[in-house]
Amino acid sequence: MSFDLTGKVALVTGASQGLGSRFAETLAAHGASVVLAARQKAKLENLAATIGEAGGTAFAVSMDVTDPASIREALSAAAGELGPLDILVNNAGIAVQKPFLEMTPEDYDQVLDTNLKGCFLVAQAAALQMKEKGGGSIINISSILGTEVIGMLSTYCASKGGLLQLNRAMALELTRFNIRVNAIAPGYIETPINSEFFQSQPGQQMIRTIPQRRLGQPHDLDGALLLLASDAGAYMTGSVVTVDGGFSLR
Ligand code: NAD
Repeated sequence: MSFDLTGKVALVTGASQGLGSRFAETLAAHGASVVLAARQKAKLENLAATIGEAGGTAFAVSMDVTDPASIREALSAAAGELGPLDILVNNAGIAVQKPFLEMTPEDYDQVLDTNLKGCFLVAQAAALQMKEKGGGSIINISSILGTEVIGMLSTYCASKGGLLQLNRAMALELTRFNIRVNAIAPGYIETPINSEFFQSQPGQQMIRTIPQRRLGQPHDLDGALLLLASDAGAYMTGSVVTVDGGFSLR
C-alpha cells in the first residue's frame, strides 16, 4: 500500500492559509505537482516557494470559486503549465456566525455560493479534464457540521450538509469515467480562522467536549487526504471520512 502521487496533478482551492496550505504541502510531499488556487495569487507566493524549496512543484493561480469565468481561466492556465488534473481538493470555504433570526439573504447567498455552489462549479470543470484523462479523484472538504448542528452557524451547516449529498450524487454519476468522489468531514481543527476563539473560555470549554480532549491540527487530516487522493482508496467512492477526535459520538 502506498501513497505515492508521483506524476499526478492536484488542485487545492483556498490554498492561501489553514487546511488548504497543509493539503497542498502534503500532496506535494508525496510527489504530486500542485496547483495552488486562491482569490489573491500574491498570497500563494510563500507557499509556492516553500514547496519548491522542499523539492516539490507548485503553480499558483487566481481563482474565485464563486465565479465560473475565473475557474475556467485558472484551470486552463494550470493545464497549460502542469497538464490536466488528476486530483481536486474542494477546500475553499467560509462561515458567517450569527443567530438564525439575524442571518440575511446576503449571508445565505455568500455562504452557499462559496461552500456548495463553488464546490459544484470547480468539480464540474475539473471532472471534464479528468474524464478526458481517463480518471481522477475529487475530495470535498465538508465538516461534521454537515450532519451535526451547533448554534450561530445555520447557513454553514446547510452548505456542508448539501455538500455531502452533492458528494454522493457526483460519485454516482462520475464512476463511469473512473472518477472517484469522496468527502472529508473534519471536526474542530486549529487554523488561523478559529485559533483565537479556541483560546477563549468558551473555546476551551468546547475543547473539553471533544472525547479526545484536544483540538485537531491540520496534519491530523493527512491520512484521510492521502487515502482518498491515492490508489490506496481505489475502491472508495461516495464515502465520507470523519476526522473529529470523536466529537460526533457525543
Ligand atoms: P480558512 O478560512 O483558514 O481557509 C479558507 C480558505 O478558503 C482561505 O484561503 C480563503 O481565502 C479561501 N476562500 C474563501 N472564499 C473563497 C472564494 N470565493 N474563492 C477562493 N477561495 C476562497 O479556513 P480553514 O479552517 O482552513 O477551512 C478550510 C475548509 O475546511 C473550509 O471549507 C472549512 O469549512 C472546512 N472545515 C474547517 C474546519 C476547521 O475546524 N478549521 C472544520 C471543518 C471543516
